[in-house]
Amino acid sequence: MALELRQITKRFGRIKALDDVSITIENGALVCFLGPSGCGKTTLLRVIAGLERPDSGDMRLAGRNLFSVPARKRNFGVVFQSYSLFPNMTIAANVAYGLECRQWRKKDIVQRVEEMLEMVHLKDQAEKFPHQLSGGQQQRIALARALAPKPEMLLLDEPLSALDAKVREELRGEIRLLQQHLGITTIMVTHDQEEALTMADIIVVMQNGRVMQSGPPMILYQQPENRFVAEFLGRMNVVPAGLGVPVPIGTHPTGGQPRILGIRPEDIRLVSDQKKNGHLAGVIDQVTRLGNLTRVTVRVQANNTGCHPDEGWCNGETLRIVAEMQGVHEDLRVGMPGFIDIPFQSVRVLEWQ
Ligand code: ATP
Repeated sequence: MALELRQITKRFGRIKALDDVSITIENGALVCFLGPSGCGKTTLLRVIAGLERPDSGDMRLAGRNLFSVPARKRNFGVVFQSYSLFPNMTIAANVAYGLECRQWRKKDIVQRVEEMLEMVHLKDQAEKFPHQLSGGQQQRIALARALAPKPEMLLLDEPLSALDAKVREELRGEIRLLQQHLGITTIMVTHDQEEALTMADIIVVMQNGRVMQSGPPMILYQQPENRFVAEFLGRMNVVPAGLGVPVPIGTHPTGGQPRILGIRPEDIRLVSDQKKNGHLAGVIDQVTRLGNLTRVTVRVQANNTGCHPDEGWCNGETLRIVAEMQGVHEDLRVGMPGFIDIPFQSVRVLEWQ
């Protein structure tokens, strides 16, 4: 059962919330829609849930057209950011609600509610009311309620963003374990890179209503296709293609849009006492020691590097290149010369976007 979206477009007045979105979601995967505020991720989730009708495009679940199926008939479990539990109902009644709507037998409801509360480790809270539970517990109940009717797919809209950091981290692990245990296809909207990197099988990175790139977290991190993805997932040094950095064979910039190069800080080697062929020379600008990791910024004169003025880098400005190295590196200090060595295998050619 794959969910296929083809060329989905949705406008709100003059705003294009979704612009030609095509993605395939495989059965059993946890997929994160990731992007900054306003990029269209919630709209995309709402289109899948049937709460929003797109202007054009095609959407199929296991080959069956979903557009003609109303939201309540889609059999998807949904959890929103605010817990949205019914405040005047007990925890057990909240979890039972969807089953009563679907006219399950009383005996089956009692059994299923018990099973669900056990699953989220809150069996002893069954007779309490939502306000008597912590935020994290309420969100686990919302999850139990969404999963109780055995939905085909689970849709989570920023389910962890209202929680504090420690609870959020715990719940990340718990949701992921549960999702893998049940094997349920899950889509989660988030603006939190770390959340997406730690939980997802597939991340769909969005910007301005468009999919910028999608794929497994490590592929997006190691092989970003464009500047947006490179900078949104972790830190990336972005330098002009003419800087003198060696470019991997087969990826030489071609004509058209100016290309840029990306190098992760952890891939850069920095030496303070020698300049060999191929090293970039600069001055150490900042040294930050983060326990067993040292982050060093080196200023490099961009106007000495032969880059092209059209690329907007060369008006006498300096480039700041960040290197991150394991260890304390007592010898590195601000004001020292810094020579940067960039292994060419770690250089990515990026689209400008
Ligand atoms: P956030 O993380 O802030 O929720 P998002 O990535 O989920 O952002 P959407 O909520 O999908 O983004 O919104 C995409 C764009 O569509 C935004 O510009 C938003 O203002 C607009 N938009 C969304 N819903 C509506 C609506 N019902 N009416 C008008 N504009 C809307």
